[in-house]
Amino acid sequence: TDADIQCDLVVLGSGPGGYSAAFRAADLGLSTVLIEKYPNLGGVCLNVGCIPSKALLHTAHISEEAMALSQHGIHFEAPTIKLDAIRADKDKVVNKLNQGIAGMAKMRKVQVVQGVGTFVDENLLEVIHEGSAKTVAFDKAIIACGSAPIQLPFMPDDPRIIDSTGALELPFIPKHMLVIGGGVIGLEMATVYSALGAKISVVELSDSLMPGADADLTKVWLKANESRFEDVLLNTKVTAATAKKAGIEITFSGETSGKKTYDLVLVAVGRSPNGRKIEADNAGITVDERGFIPVDSQMRTNVPHIFAIGDVVGQPMLAHKAVHEGHVAAEVAAGHKTHFDACVIPSVAYTFPEIAFAGVTETEANAKKLAYKTSVFPWQASGKAIACHTDTGFTKLLFDPETNRIIGGSVVGLNAGDLIAEICLAIEMGADANDIGKTIHPHPTLSESVGMAAEHFHGHCTDLP
Ligand code: FAD
Repeated sequence: TDADIQCDLVVLGSGPGGYSAAFRAADLGLSTVLIEKYPNLGGVCLNVGCIPSKALLHTAHISEEAMALSQHGIHFEAPTIKLDAIRADKDKVVNKLNQGIAGMAKMRKVQVVQGVGTFVDENLLEVIHEGSAKTVAFDKAIIACGSAPIQLPFMPDDPRIIDSTGALELPFIPKHMLVIGGGVIGLEMATVYSALGAKISVVELSDSLMPGADADLTKVWLKANESRFEDVLLNTKVTAATAKKAGIEITFSGETSGKKTYDLVLVAVGRSPNGRKIEADNAGITVDERGFIPVDSQMRTNVPHIFAIGDVVGQPMLAHKAVHEGHVAAEVAAGHKTHFDACVIPSVAYTFPEIAFAGVTETEANAKKLAYKTSVFPWQASGKAIACHTDTGFTKLLFDPETNRIIGGSVVGLNAGDLIAEICLAIEMGADANDIGKTIHPHPTLSESVGMAAEHFHGHCTDLP
């Protein structure tokens, strides 16, 4: 053809899904082109998602821990907050990783093309950058175009109303902040702003915060976070907003109704897939009405040589899911007989304390009437947890009552997000209570709680005292 660029594989979008797919494909010998509209690679996760939020949460956590030290004999004066410096520190973290990814692309000879890519037909993409167009002809393609924050249509255009991207910019520290949406993203940003001094209200349509997490975990979390909140409004909807001089006036309806004014409003009501923005029709690719692209277990769309991965193929919208799917798609594109075969995709809220779960939750087991038995290890019995003042947490494992195999687990407490990894591995390996309980865990660590929960699993490990 007479396309400007020709390749074995083109990847549309350079988020965690896209760059992982491109790197794996290049490693497997395919000539690979990676298209990204922004000058920096890494997508939402690296630039306006996982990484900057975790940089801010780290800073917030250290600051709160330092203040809490006065109870343990070391007293710091109230902190001086320099927003510019916090922002610069966060940007430094992001830039370091931007450079790392660009370097890895170069090393692997992945050709990066900047611009907005759209399908022309099922073997050709057009990429437009600053008014000029390039064409990329491909044998195979992986769509990794991600998702964008959902906007509420009635919100006025006002700098005091922000989405997650705006929140990460730390425009100012509000006195009274409203977070619309009690999911992970909203609550992580609520934690950051609260640590910086804002009083937070959160409004959530459903009957609980942290959707997906069992109520016993959320309860521990809420108790630990009570002081951050002015109001936690559940079963409540925001129906209108008016920009006023004194702030943004919000109208609520549902369990709580009425009006209240806030200095800053974060809209964190979910994300919508970008599938309708890439002219997928021109290549005959099916996109559903919400913008998701249906795929099979090899990540193929209805057009067999075009794959899709990450947020654009469905829930959960998480970076590690995108990476895993990216690897599957790249391997299949390179001719390997593989498919998506993971048992669990862990979920983590990096709040204080953290909440993490993987596999079957109790909520899910009850809804689907699955047989299960739980074993809970309360951290009040953990030396490490007590020493670290995180003993309100707990570790809960779910077992199949027939086989004693682990089918799920949840943790609430310090570093829950790291602790869940062992539970994921145990589920993937088909471990039973004995395998986990008889694994020697280092003492004193929070990881012991996983071993202890398994060891205490009733009716098993019968040779234990
Ligand atoms: P994305 O990261 O969305 O990347 C898509 C890329 O494609 C973008 O760079 C976009 O510019 C580009 N693109 C799209 N269309 C085109 C086009 N037509 N032409 C050229 N380029 C295009 N997940 C976690 O697992 N852990 C977390 O802690 C976490 N924290 C988060 C915090 C926040 C505030 C947010 C918003 C999200 C967070 N997520 C987290 C979710 C995570 O960011 C996403 O699941 C992940 O980024 C999805 O990766 P992806 O590869 O599918 O797409």
